Amino acid sequence: MDDFGFGLGLEESEIQEMVARFDDPRIGIHTLTEFLYCPRAGLVSHEQQHEDQGEDRPPIYLDYLPQYDLTQMAAAWDERFRKLLISGATMALVPFTLLLGSWWLVPVLIWECLLGIWTFKLGRDLWRLALQIRLAEKAHAWKPDPTSHNEQSVDWWQLLKAGFVSHQYLEPLQESVWQLSGKPWRVLAYENMRIPVFRYHQYSGQLYPQHRARMAAYCRLIERTTGARSPYGIILLGNTFQGTTIPNSQDNQQRFQQGVFAFRKMVRELKRERQIPEAPPPGMCFHCPLGQPRVFRKGYTETYQAKKPLPPTLVRGRDRRRYHSACGDRFCWLPPHEKARDKKRTSKWFGLFGK
Ligand code: SF4
Repeated sequence: MDDFGFGLGLEESEIQEMVARFDDPRIGIHTLTEFLYCPRAGLVSHEQQHEDQGEDRPPIYLDYLPQYDLTQMAAAWDERFRKLLISGATMALVPFTLLLGSWWLVPVLIWECLLGIWTFKLGRDLWRLALQIRLAEKAHAWKPDPTSHNEQSVDWWQLLKAGFVSHQYLEPLQESVWQLSGKPWRVLAYENMRIPVFRYHQYSGQLYPQHRARMAAYCRLIERTTGARSPYGIILLGNTFQGTTIPNSQDNQQRFQQGVFAFRKMVRELKRERQIPEAPPPGMCFHCPLGQPRVFRKGYTETYQAKKPLPPTLVRGRDRRRYHSACGDRFCWLPPHEKARDKKRTSKWFGLFGK
């Protein structure tokens, strides 16, 4: 793979345009991915200076259990098992306090109920951890073919069994020629290979060009900053241990490089002419998180541009509350998001902005 992308469908002059000038901002891989979906999303992400986390918006887990690291899972199992023994012994001993007098009955019952709930949660965690540890231990070692140009199905535990070692980078990788920065969710090390891993939580059966471009960007970053080989990356799908390889192919490099070129062009033009990108076809806004209306709360929900809050573009909902969205604030409009448009819904969003 050549350094500057010649032969990947870009003209030499276009490649030169991608080389960062002294006043060009750094491009985050997360921003680039958003930009490839929608130029307005890329601009919002760029101005909000989101740091790449190597994953899309993860679901919120209230009961955290380690999942992808066998050592952490074993430690969590030991810790919870110890607590289960203690709570079980306490539950067995507490009724003896009734020997002190019957007026203890109510506090003892309340205490037993609370302890019972806690013990139940511990038991449930232990059961989940035991299932996952068993899954990890039963996996057969398997490695993808690094020379293949096809996407290959992978299993996280099979990779670790085959000798890949998972690393979590604390700081983003930075590349100076194109001024790129990004941090994969994990990097798997095997001999002289470093394989970036991205987690796609919202996976619904399909990968899009921006995901392939993102992987090509991570591979380039790794190759340029560590000197290791990065022949493919891995996307873990949904919240599972299954995923697919994305080869660091010419096609994917081309998608990524065209994205860098177009993004740089947009930022430079914006500096000169202050012309904002066109809105995409309405269907793209339908599920876009940046266009989703949310209740405006001063001091909490503002949209930021270069660390300063933007004046919100407010719309009053049928419930009389004031709503805004990140994209709406930035481009002073009401994005056609499903929650702003769908009048057939019977949820609290019903007819939010319509008659
Ligand atoms: S709401 Fe629409 S225009 Fe705004 S960022 Fe999302 S897709 Fe782009």
